[in-house]
Formats: sequence, structure tokens, C-alpha cells
Amino acid sequence: MDRLRLLETPAALRLASDRWRAAGLSVGLVPTMGALHRGHRSLLQRARRECDRVVASIFVNPTQFGPGEDFDRYPRSLESDLSVLREEGADAAFVPSVAAMYPPGFATRVGVGGPLTAGGEAVARPGHFDGVALVVTKLLVASRADRAYFGAKDAQQAAVVSRLAADLDTGTAIVVCPTVRDDDGLALSSRNMYLSPEERRQAQVIPAGLAAAARLFAAGERRVARLVAAARGELAGGPDLRCEYVEIVDRDFRPVSQAVSGSILVVAARIGSARLIDALRLGVDAPPLPSGATSVHDTSAPAAVGGAPRSGPCTAS
Ligand code: AMP
Repeated sequence: MDRLRLLETPAALRLASDRWRAAGLSVGLVPTMGALHRGHRSLLQRARRECDRVVASIFVNPTQFGPGEDFDRYPRSLESDLSVLREEGADAAFVPSVAAMYPPGFATRVGVGGPLTAGGEAVARPGHFDGVALVVTKLLVASRADRAYFGAKDAQQAAVVSRLAADLDTGTAIVVCPTVRDDDGLALSSRNMYLSPEERRQAQVIPAGLAAAARLFAAGERRVARLVAAARGELAGGPDLRCEYVEIVDRDFRPVSQAVSGSILVVAARIGSARLIDALRLGVDAPPLPSGATSVHDTSAPAAVGGAPRSGPCTAS
């Protein structure tokens, strides 16, 4: 018997949740945009362990995409996503249409201010976090979830969502889950589907950059300029990679000049038609690649730290 329930409106989600809660059952929410992979599965598994009932949302939210971004071509694979949810033992899939979420006359905005939205993705993708804040608020209101699960890869998003859940007294605990990576260290992402085999190979410089900075931090380096240069040195090994930013920030996403344990290294880069982001907490998260793991670029090139800067779009400065 198929116990996965399909819920298509916020009202249906609320009704299901109200019934569960009336029966004394806790509710876990896993918001996604679909094209589910092992990263999403890890969130579902955690929710399954910690909550009596699990609902996953699958909604490619138009309000968090800017003009010219990939909303129209974002991968959509509802049938296989529903199979994943069944395999992971989810109780319900919330799969609203755009019209169900934003009916005619919809006019409400939600925004998180302060340092959390002063840099990084907020600047690279203007309006993105307003769209995220809006849809997450609607999901939390409709689901009345006890816990909602987000991935650490999207570090700034997780921080923004944690802020809004606390500020708006939602009563939902935001649980941030570790990044799931492929064997070569690349963080799993629905957007990896945009990569050609060669672009996929070059994208390995992103985890290599995180790993280089993590190892330098572990060796005692605290100067952000040096740590960033180490990351950029690896990123420069992807000739077709175009860095958008490589930064080290505190938990409120303020840039720092001296790193401490828990400072977050965030990276955004474009390759081909894909835009990829990744993040690592220095001194906390294990480097994505072991020391000496295969580097995708020619290691005979000058070292970025203390050496001549590399040429290219991700050059250490
Ligand atoms: P998305 O469908 O890309 O919007 O992602 C839905 C949720 O899954 C977000 O909270 C993401 O941070 C999380 N997520 C995406 N990729 C990963 C990954 N590789 N490891 C862990 N969580 C992830």
C-alpha cells in the first residue's frame, strides 16, 4: 500500500499536519526544489529518525529566482522524486502549483535584514533571499512543523532561515545537516546536471579549494587573506571556472580578517551554464578531500600562498 500522501495546497498541508499534531505526533518538514539526490535523502533520513511524521515539499519557487536565472530549465522529475520519498519513508509530499502558493492578488513580502543578507548570495542574486524567506515562511506556517531540515552546503540560506524562524516565533527548530559529497568531493546539487563531463571534472577544484584552506587552517594559519589565497589557488586550476566570490565570514555572515574555529569559507563559481556554491566551517568540518588527493590542475604551477599569483579568473590576489 502506498502510504505517501500527495498534498497540493497549503490548506491540505495544514489539515494533515493538524491531524498529526492532534494525535500527539511530531512533524518534520524537508523543503526541496525536487530533482532529489543523496543530499536530500540525508535530510529525509534525519527527519525520519527525529520526527513521527515527515513531509517533504517539492516546489521550484519562482520568487527566489532572478530574471535570467534558471527557473525555466531547473530540473523537474516529479515521478522519480516521489519514488525517492517512498523509499525514504516520507509520509507526505507537498507539491503545490505556483498558483496554489501565489494566487492572484498575492502581495505579501518577507525579508531578513542585517548582515546575513548584506553579502554573498544576497548580493550575487538580488532578491533571492526575499524569495527564500517568503516560501519558507509559508511552508512553516502551513506545516506547523516541529523541525525543518536544511543543508549546510547552502550555508547562508540556512542562517537566513534560522534567523527568520526565531524572529517570527514559528516554534520550528531549524536543523542544519552536513553536506553530502560525491567521491571526488563535489557537493551534490541538482544543478550538477547542467555540467558536461569536462565541466564536472573541472568543478572538483571547488572542494579542492575548500580542502586547501581547511588544511592550512588546521596547520595554524588564521589570516583570512592567506586562507582565501589557498582556496583560490586551487580554483585557478579550473580554466573554465569563473569565481564569483571566495570569502570567510562569521556565523552572521560578516566578513572577518582573522579566522577562528567555526568561521565559514563560502565559495560561488560559474562553470558552463551552472552556478555552484559550497561552504565549509574551518576547524569544524573535515576537508572534503584528503591531503594529497588528486588535483585537477598541474601541480607544478606556482603555489598560490607565498608564490606568484596565478593568472586566470580565479587567481589568488
Ligand atoms: P534544493 O532542492 O537544492 O533547494 O535543496 C533542498 C535542501 O537540500 C536545502 O536545504 C539544501 O541545502 C539541501 N541540500 C542540497 N544539496 C545538499 C547536499 N549535497 N548535502 C546536504 N544537503 C543538501
